[in-house]
Amino acid sequence: MNFENTLEFARTMDAQDPLRDFRDRFIFPESSAEHPVYFTGNSLGLQPKTAKTFILQELEDWGRLGVEGHFHAKRPWYSYHETLTNMVAKLVGAKPLEVCTSHSLTTNLHLLMASFYRPRGTRTKILCEAKAFPSDQYALESQLKIHGIPADHLVWVSPRAQEELIREEDIYERILDLGDELALVLWGGVNYYTGQFFDLKEITRIGHSVGAVVGFDLAHAAGNVALHLHEWGPDFAAWCGYKYLNSSPGGVSGFFVHERHAHSKDLPRLAGWWGHNKESRFSMAPGFDPIPGAEGWQLSNAPVLGMAAHLAALEIFEEATMDRISRKRDLLTAYLAFVVENCGTSSKENPLFEIITPQDPKKRGAQLSIKCLSAGKALFHALNQRGVVADWREPNVIRVAPTALYNGFEDCFWFGQYLSSSL
Ligand SMILES: *Cc1c(COP(=O)(O)O)cnc(C)c1O
Repeated sequence: MNFENTLEFARTMDAQDPLRDFRDRFIFPESSAEHPVYFTGNSLGLQPKTAKTFILQELEDWGRLGVEGHFHAKRPWYSYHETLTNMVAKLVGAKPLEVCTSHSLTTNLHLLMASFYRPRGTRTKILCEAKAFPSDQYALESQLKIHGIPADHLVWVSPRAQEELIREEDIYERILDLGDELALVLWGGVNYYTGQFFDLKEITRIGHSVGAVVGFDLAHAAGNVALHLHEWGPDFAAWCGYKYLNSSPGGVSGFFVHERHAHSKDLPRLAGWWGHNKESRFSMAPGFDPIPGAEGWQLSNAPVLGMAAHLAALEIFEEATMDRISRKRDLLTAYLAFVVENCGTSSKENPLFEIITPQDPKKRGAQLSIKCLSAGKALFHALNQRGVVADWREPNVIRVAPTALYNGFEDCFWFGQYLSSSL
């Protein structure tokens, strides 16, 4: 498609966008700017207008029913998480048995690693991406410590010298090199810094070929890119609800355990009563009997208020579908890249910016990470003042994520205008 860096072109594209009405389902932050641009759906998604209704329902039921709400609320709290399961399964390409929602992301990573990082003999190492999100780094370091494994058994795959992205062949080579020393591959689906989306099917295949367990952190992938977890076959995965999934700050996290482990009752795990057989849960007898599937990793009863926000957001995804979101995302992100590359006096010969995110739409989601080649943080502040909500990463990267559900081509156009005038 031939893009044009004009308001008219952007408006024409918005008018043809099948998802354009979804923008109205969200509440945009207050701003004094004429054309504010919210590009941080990769960090905190916007509030669905329906979230309040869903949360108020639970507050009302709590007020009206007290403890009876566990069974007599409009959506009984006892099984509230089950109302999310089918929609979540669809969103990540899993069977309902394979997914569950509760706790927070880092908590879930730990719970899953308690079962799936089982160092034995010489098979002790963990492979992960360099520049993984800090919480993941701390989680992995502490997992090694808990098992008494030296810190250097955490192995990183980095971009090559002078490069920003990790070459996928380097990941595969590293996995094959480590071979039977490799216990776990724990990889981020979409890297939070560069926006690189990895071939999760191939990482799984190669990880499994050397006998390692494969798990994914999908914080920047869920709701952003189409996932096919059951088919790709990782052992486990987890993601958070508050980024692309728009499900409230610190909101509940989803997790996946592949069907092949659904009935492995003997897998060691950190257990809690909500993971116990529903038939006998309230007999409160000793002896943990896990529910088959992902639900067997739940510790605690459902945090209903957070789940209510998640339910509101999931219904929007259900209606929009990941198929349509993906189609719009590729077009919108490509347009934003075009606008950035044609901004101000920037040109191919004399670029002011370098987009470090992969150009290939199959290798990225919505996010673009824009490296400022001549400007510094002052540029970012100037953008902010013009009403752009984006994210700055030291030393010189601006991260922007036009999300398909509530951003449009006009947002991209204004971003380009503000970028030019801020230079
Ligand atoms: C956002 C993010 C987290 C945050 O973890 P919480 O437990 O939700 O605070 C962890 N890992 C990655 C990769 C993230 O992008």
